[in-house]
Amino acid sequence: MTETTTAETHSFQAEVSRLLEIVAHSLYSERRVFLRELVSNAADACDRLRYEALQVPELLGAEAELKIVLAADAAAHTLTISDNGIGMSRAELVGNLGTIARSGTAAFVKGLEGDRKPGAPSLIGQFGVGFYAAFMVAARVEVISRRAGSEEAWRWTSDGRGAFQVEPASRAGRGTDIVLHLKDDALEFAEAQTLRDIVRDYADHIAVPVELAGAEEGEGALNQASALWTRPRAEITDQQYAEFYRHVGHGFDAPWTTIHWRAEGRIEYTGLLFLPESAPFDLYSPERRHQVKLYVRRVFITDKAEDLLPRWLRFVCGVVDSADLPLNVSREMLQNNPVVRLMRQGLVNKILSELEKRAKDDTAGYETFWKAFGPVLKEGIVHEAETRTRLVQLARFRSTAVDGWTSLADYVARMKEGQESIYYVTGETPEAMRRLPQLEGHLKRGVEVLLLADPIDEFWLGHVEDFEGRKLRSVTRGGDDLAKIKAADAPAEEPPPAGEFEGLVTLLKLTLEQDVKDVRISQRLEDSAVCLVADETGYDIHLERLLRQHRHLDTGSKRILEINPRHPLIKALARTATSEDGGAKVADAAKLLVDQARLAAGDPVPDLAAFSRRLESAVTRMLG
Ligand code: ADP
Ligand code: MG
Repeated sequence: MTETTTAETHSFQAEVSRLLEIVAHSLYSERRVFLRELVSNAADACDRLRYEALQVPELLGAEAELKIVLAADAAAHTLTISDNGIGMSRAELVGNLGTIARSGTAAFVKGLEGDRKPGAPSLIGQFGVGFYAAFMVAARVEVISRRAGSEEAWRWTSDGRGAFQVEPASRAGRGTDIVLHLKDDALEFAEAQTLRDIVRDYADHIAVPVELAGAEEGEGALNQASALWTRPRAEITDQQYAEFYRHVGHGFDAPWTTIHWRAEGRIEYTGLLFLPESAPFDLYSPERRHQVKLYVRRVFITDKAEDLLPRWLRFVCGVVDSADLPLNVSREMLQNNPVVRLMRQGLVNKILSELEKRAKDDTAGYETFWKAFGPVLKEGIVHEAETRTRLVQLARFRSTAVDGWTSLADYVARMKEGQESIYYVTGETPEAMRRLPQLEGHLKRGVEVLLLADPIDEFWLGHVEDFEGRKLRSVTRGGDDLAKIKAADAPAEEPPPAGEFEGLVTLLKLTLEQDVKDVRISQRLEDSAVCLVADETGYDIHLERLLRQHRHLDTGSKRILEINPRHPLIKALARTATSEDGGAKVADAAKLLVDQARLAAGDPVPDLAAFSRRLESAVTRMLG
């Protein structure tokens, strides 16, 4: 029997190849960040070993002191980053360093290629390239690793051009060496002083000591090597917080907000949470979870404690260090755990308080945050009753009255005399919604309408009846109460008495029996002749379209046709309706009008051929 000792060649996953090319072609002006990534991974490996050793103490063996060592060899042009953490098996080397497992990666990397203009590293900031950053400074990378508890070691090598090799190797103990064969223009990274500077700037927050091989006696660790969250706030710089954020959040951007506190009382824990500046690329992928790592008295337990934060805070990252959970807590024990539940309440409360503060003190910054994360927070309105009121207060909206964003409280402050409800409309874009005929009456009277363009809006609205006693009403739904509102610039012309239109309404109801549920005289129309609104008890127009698009509804429900009694066309129709042979003419016009209203509402026209025929003959009559 022969043992394979030759190297096996594997191809990188296609996305990895593309990512490597982008990274290697100087996406960063700051090449030094490669070291942060590799040290960050080494620290994670130590964390994971410490966790596994809670169950299997032998894994620690004689080498109980975990550390990261940097060995520079100026003559050989190499820099080696070693750790005595968990290590990788052969399969882990191939899987972890040859593929990117995160969902949505393929689409994201495709998007990156459009972002490759010089000085435009914005997109990749949401992603973080991690290990592959090594290729910014190295022409060839060797990874020699031995999994804790295993006798075998393996060597992974690559020049980052499409393929990597894996072969058996040897290593004295568990852990990983990353050997960087530095590019000719990157030899500074084999100099001790450069490494000291980088570690101080980028890795001071790392809780594992980072040492320099061959350093003078007594130099010790280059970093503080204590868990950042355990240090007093006053002693932590913004830079240290930001680097820690990049370490736990696996991103390259900066935190928008840092929340660092100690909770004492019923339960004790330390929280260090970050809200990012920009939305991560996978914010809407179903697998996306929060990135809050759970520690128990400084020992890493898991980064998958789902119950620690609700889904609608899945953009939060950071650390929670509990003093109340047992060290040997298993991941299963974390489900339905009362301590975790209390911590979750505490975290959510802390985050909401911080947002409330920011919304008050830093309006512009808060609006930028809301733009990126508002749709996700609105999921919280749907799913969580306890925090619903606070989230509704935190929500910001587009509106006909302001160019930027408004809160509901500000809307209420602007309400007109006699106005009882908060009006909104839902649709695709604020611009398109402003032009809807259903808004004409509101706009004319200066009554503000919120313009809701997120698909989720339709769903949270179903859970929020009112805001501080004011009903939320869709302008494309049900009867309106505009007549009660006193507005200085109310339409001068009083509508003609409703009696004049009785004949027309009856005739329209008869003619359009198949098409609409009812015909009413409108108060909301000003310039348009007709519009469609949804029944008070049915689905709102935009929601119904969404449901139909997603096949949750087969058939649309019937609308209510509203006619504008001040419009010349309607007045003319009313006269025709009472004339002797007017019935047939009105019927033809009615069909045309209802189709036109459908088009204006974005509804499909059921019989396009008939619509075209009627339009043609109308134009012919007009010209004849
Ligand atoms: P991330 O750190 O965001 O998961 P990276 O690209 O930095 O992504 O690393 C990919 C994976 O490779 C890590 O998740 C880890 O499983 C593995 N890895 C990298 N470096 C080490 C190391 N020094 N020891 C053990 N595993 C490592
Ligand atoms: Mg990493």
